[in-house]
This record gives sequence, structure tokens and C-alpha cells, in this order.
Amino acid sequence: MDHHKDPAAEILRATLFAARAHAGQVRKGAAAEPYVNHVIEVAAILAEAGAPQEAILAGLLHDTVEDTEATHADLVAAFGEEVAALVAEATDDKALPKETRKALQVSLAPKKSAAAKQLKLADKISNLRAIADSPPASWNHARRTEYVGWAGRVADGCKGVNPALDALFEETYRAAMAKLAAEAR
Ligand code: ZN
Repeated sequence: MDHHKDPAAEILRATLFAARAHAGQVRKGAAAEPYVNHVIEVAAILAEAGAPQEAILAGLLHDTVEDTEATHADLVAAFGEEVAALVAEATDDKALPKETRKALQVSLAPKKSAAAKQLKLADKISNLRAIADSPPASWNHARRTEYVGWAGRVADGCKGVNPALDALFEETYRAAMAKLAAEAR
């Protein structure tokens, strides 16, 4: 990380990069929010929890390699090796079947770097909020419940680095489960 660069300027540069990369993409939820709202939310969660600058930058960029035309080399050139490596840690191998990728997220989480664990927790917090508040129209109750449970198993392997994030995940997880339980009654 180049500490001579102004942190706010770097965050805005990463925000613009993500907004351009994700232009035209929307979240799966009924609200059809711009996709970039998700990565800004992830970065905001990290910043508020006191996560390091490179994690905040990687939060903004975490879905660019997986879901846009941007490449690892683009990220190295624009933001340096450290941020690009963190994004790589947060990127699933899309060549693998979905169920394998989901299982790997659970088994690989404990082996990730401290910054990658914080990024993964913030990502899951944002996704659980979306599942509770604006779920995809095609997702039934069972699928949403299964997703929340899986996110909890991934999060278990990411805890122990940042107590503020651990607590926020716990709170978000409980709220999502409570909402699903209430809907089932
Ligand atoms: Zn994400």
C-alpha cells in the first residue's frame, strides 16, 4: 500500500473504478438497486468498523474481477499488488460449480488473511441485509433460510480479527433469522 497517497482520494478513485466497472448491473433484489451500492455498503461497513485502508479499497473492488471486464492486472496497475491480492482472495473460481464454490467459501475462510476475513464478513453482512430487506423475487423462504445459514458458516471462519465486525455480523444474522422465522409463522 502506498501510504503517500491521500486515503480519501484513493477511496474515491476505487469507488469511481467500481461504479464504472459495474455500470448497468443491478442487485438481484426486488428493489433492483445499482450493483455498486453493494460494494459501497461493504466498504462503509469496513470503514466504520476500523478496518485497514487496503481492506476498504478491496471492499470497493471485491466483485470487479468476478463480475465485470476488469482483470487482476488492471487492479494491480491501478491500486497495487496488496489491494489486488486481497480482491483475488475474495474472488470465487467461476469455473467451479456453484455448490463447490459455496463449500469452498466455508472451508477456505479460516485460512484467509486478516484483511480478507474482514472483507468477507462485511460482504456477508451486506448480503444478509439484502436477503432480509429486498430478497430476489424468485427466492422462496427455504432458499433464503439456506443462504443465511451458509453465510453464517462462512462467517464462523472469519471471526476473531475485528470484534466490531464480529458483533455486527452476529446482530445482522440474528435479525435475518428472526425475520425469516416471523415470515414462516
Ligand atoms: Zn459482494
